[in-house]
Amino acid sequence: MKAYRAAILRFADDRTALYEEDGLLVIGPDAQGQPVVRAVGPYRELVDRFPGLSITHFPGRILAPGFVDLHIHCPQTDVIGSPAEGLLPWLENYTFPHESRFHDGEYATEVASFFLDELLRHGVTTALAFATSHPSSVDALFQQAQQRRLRFITGKVLQDRFSPDGVRDQTEQSLIDTEALIQRWHGVDRLGYAITPRFAPTSTPEQLRGAGELAARYPQVWVQSHVAENLAEIAWARELFPQSRSYLATYADFGLMRDRSVYAHCIHFDDDDRALMRETGAAAAVSPTSNLFLGSGFFDYQGADRVGYRYGLASDVGGGTSFSPFHTMLAAYYVGREGQTKPGLSLSPQHLWWQHTAGAAAALGLAGEQGAPSIGNLNPGCEADFVLLNPQATPLLARKTAQARNLDELLFSLIVLGDDRVIERTAVAGQWWPAQAAG
Ligand SMILES: [Zn+2]
Repeated sequence: MKAYRAAILRFADDRTALYEEDGLLVIGPDAQGQPVVRAVGPYRELVDRFPGLSITHFPGRILAPGFVDLHIHCPQTDVIGSPAEGLLPWLENYTFPHESRFHDGEYATEVASFFLDELLRHGVTTALAFATSHPSSVDALFQQAQQRRLRFITGKVLQDRFSPDGVRDQTEQSLIDTEALIQRWHGVDRLGYAITPRFAPTSTPEQLRGAGELAARYPQVWVQSHVAENLAEIAWARELFPQSRSYLATYADFGLMRDRSVYAHCIHFDDDDRALMRETGAAAAVSPTSNLFLGSGFFDYQGADRVGYRYGLASDVGGGTSFSPFHTMLAAYYVGREGQTKPGLSLSPQHLWWQHTAGAAAALGLAGEQGAPSIGNLNPGCEADFVLLNPQATPLLARKTAQARNLDELLFSLIVLGDDRVIERTAVAGQWWPAQAAG
């Protein structure tokens, strides 16, 4: 058992964080040997319950759940910050040429290693990530995630049409490869597989049907794709699948909407789409830096809450502009505020932070339901993935956080002014990463 004394942030529900100024976090193995939170609460109350425990004290620091990124593209690590006239030219000119290099396993391994280190440096301990259409890119990413003991989900991209040579796959082989990768990786250590159609337009009906059949055969596996990001893409999807009620409904029609399915963007929805999300148990990966960068539109938080479906935050690198959860939370605040295309509102700092931790975990079905692991929180039983935050990381942050009169003011200062400098350390499965930084 290990214990850490610091301020502790965790979540009671989607709008309410619990904050202990002088807290104690006790980490120990669960029945399966997985390091989890064994106890958490006020230092003074807990310290006597664990006599002889060696306690590491971090004065002035905050322990918080590791961030969960609901949607990110590993192979776009080097595409971040590429100028383009919107989504479709951006895919054609930057993304597809770059992704075509991932047939080379050595290259895929080098990028995967950098990508995961960058996530950890930013305090992200779990991600639902796209690889490329090459199975070697999936093997590389899982191997690197396994070495780092991460709870991590990825899958081979399915795209058998309207894609250039080098990234386009073959319908039948793509489904054989997907099933082989599920059997090789899903449930190994902390790894999970996601069936990954890029988006409906770049898959034939046969490929989508095959993906839906795999989703039915492997209900514990995730499904990830994109939907309703911008108007040109929607018009194209409607042309290709006119028999479906909407672009989103196309996925449902092929059996690709269920619990553990996560759709990036979900911007241009009507209430029938929102109800379809709620009824199927699908979740939205809200990707605000990407949506602002590509000018795609603004996620309607009021609509999502009114109908009541699940969502959480995502960086969507490389359409997104930052690996930093702080930048993503701030962009989500901007997106929420926008009030010309949909109702504008002020998302609370606690709710923003929840969307990138416990809320994202719940969207993945990783909030402890029905024996599933619990991540994105620091309540007893949660897996021991957490970050150590330094609220004095910059002169302005030190000045601003010292004046915070309540938790919302403290968290909002970190959201608006924070970046990777705030993440002093990251712990994965109870161990500091990288190991040599441990003290
Ligand atoms: Zn994306």
